Amino acid sequence: MLFYVLAVEIVAVVAVVAAANAGDVTRRDVVWLAVLMVAALVYQEAIRSIDRVRDVAVAGSSYTHLLSVWVFASVLLLPPVLTAVLVVFGYLHAYLRIYWRRVLFYRKVFSAATVLIASVGAHVLLAVMYPGQGHSYVEALEGPVGLAALVAAAVVYRLVNYGLVLTVILVTNLDRPARAALGNASDHLMLSGGVALGCGVAMVMTIEPWLMPILMLTVLGLHMGLLVPQFREASRNDQKTGLFNASFWSKQVSDEMDHARRLDGTMAILVVDLDHFKRVNDRNGHLAGDLVLRAVAEAIKKSVRTHDIVGRYGGEEFAVVLPGVTTNGVLPAAERIRDAIAQVRVAVTDLNGVERVIAGLTASVGAAVFPDHGTDRNSLLLTADAALYEAKDAGRDRTRLAGRTIRVPSARLPATPVPGDHLRH
Ligand code: GH3
Ligand code: MG
Ligand code: MG
Repeated sequence: MLFYVLAVEIVAVVAVVAAANAGDVTRRDVVWLAVLMVAALVYQEAIRSIDRVRDVAVAGSSYTHLLSVWVFASVLLLPPVLTAVLVVFGYLHAYLRIYWRRVLFYRKVFSAATVLIASVGAHVLLAVMYPGQGHSYVEALEGPVGLAALVAAAVVYRLVNYGLVLTVILVTNLDRPARAALGNASDHLMLSGGVALGCGVAMVMTIEPWLMPILMLTVLGLHMGLLVPQFREASRNDQKTGLFNASFWSKQVSDEMDHARRLDGTMAILVVDLDHFKRVNDRNGHLAGDLVLRAVAEAIKKSVRTHDIVGRYGGEEFAVVLPGVTTNGVLPAAERIRDAIAQVRVAVTDLNGVERVIAGLTASVGAAVFPDHGTDRNSLLLTADAALYEAKDAGRDRTRLAGRTIRVPSARLPATPVPGDHLRH
């Protein structure tokens, strides 16, 4: 593994050195390099904030970053040495500004090496097809042959880069299915789009460099426009069950409470905790436990109205906002949920490899109603949590409606009290 990574890095350096005397660097080249460096810098600075969001929202998922737009443009415009300068500059800047303390330095060095080898590969292909040109091949491209050369160079660039990275992923994850290493189609499409846009950048630079800001805007607009909704979605939903996560759900409680207050209406919240869920895990393993959680989430969603708001509040704790529901209506709603949970049947393979069906789950529910049991979010949540605690104490498998109002100055409370905290160790 180490040998492979080092070999790739050495090949990258050798390739750049070997290509160093492949053409003279003119003043125009230096100006172009400067323009591409500024473009890469502006792009990376602009995506920096969105990258931070992504890091929190969709931790662990792959992420595409479009430095390739500028790097591939430089393949079509500049001698390989200057492309190398751009790559080193771009990766160093990204490392210092985006990946600092989040990605190991040697990983970025390796990535930069793969990009360098890929760009030298594309240079070589173009040099073979247009021997007299030296560099700035984009000016030599003409007719269908020009198109073919461009496509071939782009393909070499992507495949070499991808192949080098894929090898490392496959070698380090021998125990995982190879398919997982291939990456998702959307990333590949985005990277290919980036390379294609690089062709556009190179052409605009040779024809009318002053139009560059338009392409700059294209890259930024697409990057942010496509990714922001995805992150927003990811940042509200719990990955395991697809329900709203605790922080988003809590915000909904406040919103619905404001709404009820304005209309002089009511709303209820339920906190649902599965009974003895630890046993399900102990008998069947955590993976089976996860399947059960997903099935329970589905069941809860199906047993409430479409505008009720269901969230996953903790491990095996769910929470529901029921807008407009009164003290009279809350118990039937809670019982419908408990019935639905009791109906859940999940086929699993237990820890001994035996196929079993998990069924007969029960849950305890704490219910509280605005304004009867609390008039601000924290006191309502605490009251529902106390009711849940009572339901557990009374023998589980039941719903308890808040009996008394807990009035606590909200400044003394944590921003988001977590129901069931008293059950955790
Ligand atoms: P009770 O609530 O009835 O007192 O018993 P319990 O066993 O459900 O109680 P507790 O809240 O102490 O334990 C919750 C268990 O839920 C602990 C953990 O094994 C399990 N759990 C929490 N989160 C997850 C998860 O994401 N996946 C799986 N499979 N299990 C989880
Ligand atoms: Mg429990
Ligand atoms: Mg619990």
